[in-house]
Amino acid sequence: MSEITENVKRVYERIAEAAAASGRSPEDITLVAATKMNDAERVKEAIRAGIKAAGENRVQELLEKDALGAYDGAQLHFIGTLQKNKVKFVSGRCDLIQSVSSPELLRAIGKKAASLGKTQEILLEVNIGEEAAKTGASVGKIEEMLEAASDEKGVHVAGLMTIPPVCDDMAETRGYFDKMYKLFVDISAKKYDNTYMRILSMGMSGDYAEAILSGATMVRVGTAIFGARHY
Ligand SMILES: *Cc1c(COP(=O)(O)O)cnc(C)c1O
Repeated sequence: MSEITENVKRVYERIAEAAAASGRSPEDITLVAATKMNDAERVKEAIRAGIKAAGENRVQELLEKDALGAYDGAQLHFIGTLQKNKVKFVSGRCDLIQSVSSPELLRAIGKKAASLGKTQEILLEVNIGEEAAKTGASVGKIEEMLEAASDEKGVHVAGLMTIPPVCDDMAETRGYFDKMYKLFVDISAKKYDNTYMRILSMGMSGDYAEAILSGATMVRVGTAIFGARHY
């Protein structure tokens, strides 16, 4: 078995354990392979190994690999910082845009998808640690985005995504995951138009099992599948 194939198997095993420990089944958790800096061949290999969704960070890289059929047989997600002038390349093409961090970006995505006769599923990216240098909307801005979504028919809000601050210990990280889960439940209870909280995307190679224990329904794993990235 190749290294990627073995790694995918191991990650699915740990997901199954964490799902069971949180009273859920493995099918309740979606594994997204974070494919940045891995070429089309490696992405294809991961998909052959059972990966059902690939997440890309950069539009240019996504377009290059997409042209090579890298994502055939899997969903394609956008998980990186999205500039408004690049929206036209991903809205309507991706199965999920996970990193929507402002009402303006949400509207731009909606307009583009609507012009194609589509509805784009999105997640709202939350800056749960309220860090100055981090992407994502602060918790206080989320309501404004949900209101923007309520009359933007080209988008559908399917949940929340976060990248928590880098913490010294796992208990601190769990604190952020728990905060996200609470926000997810609170928004679900409010019933906004055009929003249905189904996906909570959090957890990466170092903490995906813990994220699942806190209620994640989707994890984004790069290094634990592909090995270290060489910048
Ligand atoms: C790279 C990346 C990941 C995966 O990170 P790893 O630590 O390599 O698992 C997850 N989410 C986002 C948004 C990323 O950019």
